[in-house]
Amino acid sequence: MEFVDLKKQYERLKPQIQHRINTVLEHGKFIMGPEVVELEHRLAALVGARHCVSCANGTDALLLSLMAHHVKPGDAVFTTPFTFIATAEVICLLGATPVFVDIDPQTYNIDAEQLQLTIQELQQGTTRFGGRQNTLTPKGIIAVDVFGLPADYNAINRIAREYGLFVVEDAAQSLGGSHHGKRVGNVTDIAATSFFPAKPLGGYGDGGAVFTNDEVMASNMRSLREHGKGSHKYDNVRIGINGRLDTLQAAILLAKLEVFEDEITMRQQLAGEYSSALRNCIQTPYVPDGFASAWAQYSVVTDHREVYLAALKEKSIPTAIYYPRPLHLQTAFAYLEYHQGDFPKAERLSSSIFSLPMHPYLTEQDREHIIAAVQKAHTAL
Ligand SMILES: *Cc1c(COP(=O)(O)O)cnc(C)c1O
Repeated sequence: MEFVDLKKQYERLKPQIQHRINTVLEHGKFIMGPEVVELEHRLAALVGARHCVSCANGTDALLLSLMAHHVKPGDAVFTTPFTFIATAEVICLLGATPVFVDIDPQTYNIDAEQLQLTIQELQQGTTRFGGRQNTLTPKGIIAVDVFGLPADYNAINRIAREYGLFVVEDAAQSLGGSHHGKRVGNVTDIAATSFFPAKPLGGYGDGGAVFTNDEVMASNMRSLREHGKGSHKYDNVRIGINGRLDTLQAAILLAKLEVFEDEITMRQQLAGEYSSALRNCIQTPYVPDGFASAWAQYSVVTDHREVYLAALKEKSIPTAIYYPRPLHLQTAFAYLEYHQGDFPKAERLSSSIFSLPMHPYLTEQDREHIIAAVQKAHTAL
């Protein structure tokens, strides 16, 4: 049994994927070939956004989103400590400062009330933690849709408008999810997603994309991903990056896109099965009304994590821990002067969460095996 089984998906799509790859090998346009444009159109239509700008990976998608908003030294960008390093890393790469906000203990996403409080404190120069915040200018928010569940964008967008901040949706895990009838990628100013192989829509290597309805921002990001080019390649109007998506990855993603909606449904079915079988023995994921998760991960919470992990390991069931250490306690961010205890909800979650195998091709037999093992571990507690 695999934690994420990419081989079974390949078996399903083999002829389509090989046909797409062969087409690229024949036409030879490996950089910005026709598949890149086709994928951007298809993805924009999928999420309902006017523009899709593909790029080299999810981290570059976040970076381009911040560059399009002219994030610079002295700016504060508010985000969650319960995420992958890339979310906060890109803020620092532009010389700005991540300002962490604790999570909602039910959804594991940024807590909107705490967000508003933190913005107010920073404006008043009375920040409780993070030693270097008092001279910063509030600039924007990166909300993360952790495990595939969209953050609370009704509240986040309202707060952003009130304080004149931008909102970037880190949708690396949530492509395929939705928020009050709108698809992820079309709920805020800009959304950044990833095609890392294990994400809901994964390629065979790195890839990413940005979505926006803003024409100017889209054209700036198209320029930024190609060294800040102007009207042609050797006319450079801004400092950019080499951040293009390979044509081969676009071709592979086009083949996988054919079954993407079906796979999201299969993930939702698996999550439903897990939740109804396990909700009485462990804390299962909470999905608020009006939200649909893309189920990048199915994560459960318990005060007896070691017991469950050992029991599952004994039955050869793979598990993973996302995220074992919240970002404010990572060595890379020690210079921000946060301390243990600053974000108790994220810290508690990091010590009590783990993820079960989640992918569309988990067999009925494997599902039963996993559910039985968790139930047995619970009974033995
Ligand atoms: C995977 C991920 C990223 C980064 O994506 P890459 O394609 O690996 O660069 C960013 N944010 C979150 C929340 C992720 O899960």
